[in-house]
Amino acid sequence: MMGMFHDLNELQQELEHQDAETILNWAFTSFSPEEIVIACSFQIEDQVICDMAIAGQHDVSILTIDTLRLNQEIYDTIRLFENKYGIRVQKIYPDSEEIQKMTAEKKENSFLNSKQDREACCFFRKVKPLAKSLTGKKAWITGLRREQSYNRKCIQKIEQDTRFNIIKINPLADWTLQEVWDYIKKQNIPYCVLYDRGYTSIGCEPCTRPATDPADIRSGRWWWETDSSRECGMHEK
Ligand code: SF4
Repeated sequence: MMGMFHDLNELQQELEHQDAETILNWAFTSFSPEEIVIACSFQIEDQVICDMAIAGQHDVSILTIDTLRLNQEIYDTIRLFENKYGIRVQKIYPDSEEIQKMTAEKKENSFLNSKQDREACCFFRKVKPLAKSLTGKKAWITGLRREQSYNRKCIQKIEQDTRFNIIKINPLADWTLQEVWDYIKKQNIPYCVLYDRGYTSIGCEPCTRPATDPADIRSGRWWWETDSSRECGMHEK
């Protein structure tokens, strides 16, 4: 398999012109079911990826990180989604001892103390559990789109994820938000009701609000941080 990645640039150029279904087909034929996983945060983009992969009759493994601070509406969406497709999503949890230690030292809402404490919370609740669940995998698939933020505008449809030492596949990199919604509606995918209440990006309950800037769909995330990259660390290289 890795022989295919001798020239990642070449592969990037090749896949750049392929549509999302073709990229997913390529991914699931290039990696065995044990080697590849879809990470789904139950935002609409990730749900498109899951629906497409299931429709393509791939042997799909889907994981979600339950930070233990999610909105109830996300848990409701997970249940509806599992029922629609007759699947079970693998829930990944933070290490309880680490969370206890962090909250004992820094209080329950430590993320409000400073950016450093916020990033530590994201690290223990999201990044570290994800890293653990990706151990032994060769590729992960995400619903990232270039349009989502300044930080994401350079993502490739396939890239080397140096943070987790794994291949990262972003089949929706060039999709618009409208295309995502069109797909969600067409496939009747049960999406999180918070989208109907002004949310445009959904993270943990205490750290997410409806978008404060309509032009910036991640503006409702960590809204109190003025210098925020609006990233939790899972998608930084
Ligand atoms: S989004 Fe907020 S609650 Fe969730 S892990 Fe990050 S800092 Fe912690």
